[in-house]
Amino acid sequence: MLQHLRKHLIRIYTIIAGIILTVVFIITALFLNYQNSRSQYEQFTNHVFMIQNKLQNDNIISDSWLSNLEVTNHLIIWINDNGNPLFFPGMFVSKTSRSVLMDKMSALIEKEGISLSSRPVSADSIQSDIYIIKGDHRDKYYGTAMSIATNGGYRSFFLFQQIDTNSKDMFKQRITLVLINILGIFALFLLIRKLVDRSLQPVKENQQRQTQFIAAASHELRSPLAVIRTNNSLHKENLNEYENCERIIETECKRMSRLINDLLLLASGDANTWSLQKSEVNTDTLLLDSYESTISLAKKKEIRIILKLPDESLPTIEGDYERLLQILTILIDNAISYSEIGSSIELSAKIEKKTLSLYVIDHGIGILDEDKKRVFERFYRVEKSRKDKSHFGLGLSIAKELVTLHHGTIKIVDTIGGGSTFVVTLPRQS
Ligand code: ATP
Ligand code: MG
Repeated sequence: MLQHLRKHLIRIYTIIAGIILTVVFIITALFLNYQNSRSQYEQFTNHVFMIQNKLQNDNIISDSWLSNLEVTNHLIIWINDNGNPLFFPGMFVSKTSRSVLMDKMSALIEKEGISLSSRPVSADSIQSDIYIIKGDHRDKYYGTAMSIATNGGYRSFFLFQQIDTNSKDMFKQRITLVLINILGIFALFLLIRKLVDRSLQPVKENQQRQTQFIAAASHELRSPLAVIRTNNSLHKENLNEYENCERIIETECKRMSRLINDLLLLASGDANTWSLQKSEVNTDTLLLDSYESTISLAKKKEIRIILKLPDESLPTIEGDYERLLQILTILIDNAISYSEIGSSIELSAKIEKKTLSLYVIDHGIGILDEDKKRVFERFYRVEKSRKDKSHFGLGLSIAKELVTLHHGTIKIVDTIGGGSTFVVTLPRQS
């Protein structure tokens, strides 16, 4: 499922990024194309201007000047001096013959109503529009015609410039752009794959945790169910065992219902549906109530709970009274469970600048350093506690989630002389 999502996301993101990159490259290619044709057009107008100047000011137009101009700039020049064509055979060899281009151009200027066979009257010069003329071999040319008044009469000329649409440079440029585009898409693919993997990592971990959680929960639910079924059939077979079986079934039912309650609590925590009924909680009352609610349990194990309250009243806490009581009950319950008969537990509080720390100190079996973090994991129980079937390993994970909901922290330190001390630190109010 996750693997499928990963592939899907990588594919979608790569396609989107690829499309964006390709569009950018196409725009770049079009822009370069536009720039290229613009610069060719500008060159053409410069040549028109240059030839016009030359014809206006110089008496002699040398063949070498014309040849050089034609060859280096891919031009076709045809000049008429006072109605007499200049004898210049042309040096640039165009794909389409000169005569064909001249015919096409003559037809165009005729349509425009421009005559090159007489001196311009109203101005120094008359020029036709600049045309793009298609040759016979998919070649194209800029073309124009002009008549210029001179001292001795008039001169006119046709000028064509081959438009380079597929020069080697442009081809190289396009190939380079395509290659960069392909490399870019590949690089983006690698980057996207990394980013998708990184962003799916927490989801993957969460999914693993959920799977483990469900496996552990099912496992824990199976054992009381098995006991209930066994006792149920036992009491059917042997009616004398009725009372004993009923007692066992009731105990197991209680165990199961406690587990289900814990699981539901954690599940709603995961779904973020825990709602806190916040109010100003009197910390003295909270400690006193947690003491009272656990005293009978402690008495069963002959454990003394000592409540140490300072003389002045403790600052209040903003929180959910029931949930806070639940945290302390979980900790005291653990302290009782993991202490020897006849031991003692202290409940105390310490006021700090912005916080209030609540202490549950026991002198029991203690928790090794390597287990101190792990005991807050769901279903984690230290090796030596595993034999005790009345526990599931959920208490501390519930307590930790509740503390976090109250913007507090919970930690374990060793009690001097042996045992564990749980410290819950919460923001204080007054
Ligand atoms: P549950 O609370 O669900 O009945 P549990 O007590 O085993 O079961 P937690 O309260 O989460 O679960 O505690 C996890 C484990 O941490 C315990 O199994 C025990 O090994 C260890 N532990 C917790 N509190 C203490 C303590 N005060 N002293 C020593 N070990 C403790
Ligand atoms: Mg517990």
